[in-house]
Amino acid sequence: MSGNPADSLLKPKHFKTDIKPVWCPGCGDFGVLSAVTKALAHLALPQKDVAMISGIGCSSRLPAYVSVYGFHGVHGRALAVAAGLKAARPDLTVLVAGGDGDGFSIGGNHFLHACRRNMDLTYIVMDNEVYGMTKGQASPTTSPDWSASKLTPHGPSVPSFNPAAIALASGATFIARGFTGKPNDLTKLLVDAIQHPGFSFIQALSPCTTYRPEQNGWKKIVHPFEMDATGDPIEAARRIQADDGMSTGLLYQTRIPVWQPENIVSTQVDELERGFQV
Ligand code: SF4
Repeated sequence: MSGNPADSLLKPKHFKTDIKPVWCPGCGDFGVLSAVTKALAHLALPQKDVAMISGIGCSSRLPAYVSVYGFHGVHGRALAVAAGLKAARPDLTVLVAGGDGDGFSIGGNHFLHACRRNMDLTYIVMDNEVYGMTKGQASPTTSPDWSASKLTPHGPSVPSFNPAAIALASGATFIARGFTGKPNDLTKLLVDAIQHPGFSFIQALSPCTTYRPEQNGWKKIVHPFEMDATGDPIEAARRIQADDGMSTGLLYQTRIPVWQPENIVSTQVDELERGFQV
């Protein structure tokens, strides 16, 4: 991140709405809200040129709190909606937000194809290894032995989803991990992700203080990646396999052509309806 954020006339407060977040006290998602507003201010992006799309879940409430165009959609479909918007409006900066349940379970298929398609989208997943909004069920990133949920009293007993490994295998061109307890570092990752031409993915470790109170201890165990980001997918795969899941920073970045459909023309609703008439 270069330049001084104070140079911008737009301040983080200009990107906050008047709506008071309903997140539990101490929820990690507050750190993402802070990082998003700082990143947008730093990049001096006019609010009318930014859209934030989300799915369903605690973290997917984010668009309500960020003063840009927003769409709080349906469960797991944020990336599909965002891809449609970007196809029609390539001039917009499109941010996509959600949680590990929304993004890696019902939305998992969209995640794979967003990675390989490489549209110019920035996807931030607030990962707390639990479904918070629906009161604490195991999610795809929950460890096999987490037994606090009544639905899985012996733990999910299946290996957890590794978001960075899946993103790499699916062709993502920017893969990073941040921690919501370090919002300035997360801001830098977001700035770099927004500026990256193509699909950028940030896994934000975001403690759920209500259903995973032990995650308050993450601040003591997160640590930066030992090496600078690599552009070699084989080396990135090696690092992911050797990692403890708590390393933060940019892991992998490469550049390939951005996918942007051509000849998209805006169509009036009545024209669309005529096309479906039988
Ligand atoms: Fe955050 Fe968990 Fe509360 Fe949801 S339930 S708002 S994830 S602390």
